Amino acid sequence: EVRVRFAPSPTGHLHLGGLRTALYNFLFARSHGGKFILRIEDTDQTRLVPGAAEKFTQMLDWAGIGIDEGPSQGGSYGPYLQSNRLDLYWHHIETLLQNGSAYRCFCSPKRLDLLRKDALRRREVPKYDNRCRHLTAEDVDRKLKENAPYVIRFKLESHKEPWQDLVYGPIVYDVASIEGDPVLLKTDRFPTYHFANVVDDHLMRISHVLRGVEWQNSTTKHVLLYRAFNWTPPQFAHLPLLLNKDGTKLSKRQGDIHVEHFKSCGYFPESVISLLTTAGSGFDVQQTGTMTLDDLVTHFDISRVNAHSTRIDLLRLDALNQAHIQQKLNSPERAGLIATAKHLVRESLKERLHSDNSLQDEILSDDYIGAVLDWSQTRIHALEDLTKPEWEFIWVIPSTLNLTQLSANFGGDVRRTLQRTVDEVGTMSHDTFMTLDMLSRQLKDLAKSHDLKYSTYMHLLRQAVSGLKVGPSVAEMMTVLGQENTTRRLQYVID
Ligand code: GLU
Repeated sequence: EVRVRFAPSPTGHLHLGGLRTALYNFLFARSHGGKFILRIEDTDQTRLVPGAAEKFTQMLDWAGIGIDEGPSQGGSYGPYLQSNRLDLYWHHIETLLQNGSAYRCFCSPKRLDLLRKDALRRREVPKYDNRCRHLTAEDVDRKLKENAPYVIRFKLESHKEPWQDLVYGPIVYDVASIEGDPVLLKTDRFPTYHFANVVDDHLMRISHVLRGVEWQNSTTKHVLLYRAFNWTPPQFAHLPLLLNKDGTKLSKRQGDIHVEHFKSCGYFPESVISLLTTAGSGFDVQQTGTMTLDDLVTHFDISRVNAHSTRIDLLRLDALNQAHIQQKLNSPERAGLIATAKHLVRESLKERLHSDNSLQDEILSDDYIGAVLDWSQTRIHALEDLTKPEWEFIWVIPSTLNLTQLSANFGGDVRRTLQRTVDEVGTMSHDTFMTLDMLSRQLKDLAKSHDLKYSTYMHLLRQAVSGLKVGPSVAEMMTVLGQENTTRRLQYVID
């Protein structure tokens, strides 16, 4: 059975890199009819951020990545929070102590620090010199009796056989020639990442480990640990580095790659996922538009993930999100989109709506919002754009509108011109108002009959209906507002 896991440490926010790892694990699980497990790796007690684990779950949920087993879902291989599994780690450390693959190390922090400084002075990479490997049983007993603090380390053996990376191919990394014996259990009796990770992947029957390539060197260590336990390791696949457009590491960016940030900017999860999957590899189709998670599952193929690093252009998100809005508008999801837009508009206009109840029905009708969306779909990148200040006129009579101001700018008899326009617009056919071309032509005729320069007349009307001096064409604004709204606005200015 295919069982994969996403194993974040709750030390901060879920960022794009984490989402990519979670997503690819999820796609792999679903495309094999397997299980996707969430495991929270909270063994580094010094770096815990309260609430981070819950946030991870919320963000995965937002993205539509369903968790089969995890801290809140439960499952047969729990607990799924490492800090609740300490006795399991203690039990397993005994196995390694007994079979001689691990040993107690009593080296003081001071000695380790000296070792490190010495190495740096020699311009070498610091590594533990494995001194405590050679303590006799009597030495160890004596230290234990003295209650000397200790950690437990793993005897790293030289390892020159390759292991298979499903993405990178055979990997040989003789870790023992580079690093000292790693700590498995710390003085606080908490396991380190390496130890807990291996024990849990085994006990949770993880069949495939998919994670970022920055963990690839650790994998050799893990393979040795599996061997020390006499366990069969899972299969490993490392996912290539994510880079910014300019080739720098994406992980070095701050705040703006948090998934939560994208959510609060109004991007749809599908757009964020699309950003990752269109830039990344692993699919047997060239993606056009945003694909649903189901489609992604159908087309996912781990053997197509290539080892090249992946450049992510965050600026593409706007275009992807716009495309996604358009896609939804013309699908059965239209009603849902309208409902979301309604909610946003209502929230942003809360006060205006409160003081003028009659507005509610009129501008927050589904038909009206639908029409606004149809018109704005090539201009907005997120539904939030509907509430930008320049577009206030779409929803309410702009606060800047008044006749004196208009008259000063215009010169002629504004009241007369507008009054005539109200009458003329009021008698136009419904069809005229629905069609941009027809309405434009009529407005041209009106300008002529008013004996006004077309541009002067348009300038006046633009301000009268929207309070704006620049903006969309007058005919466009009028078709969006509709006949009734338009006449009401003109009338409002005159009154
Ligand atoms: N806890 C590790 C992390 O935060 C998990 C790495 C792994 O998947 O093994 O990324």
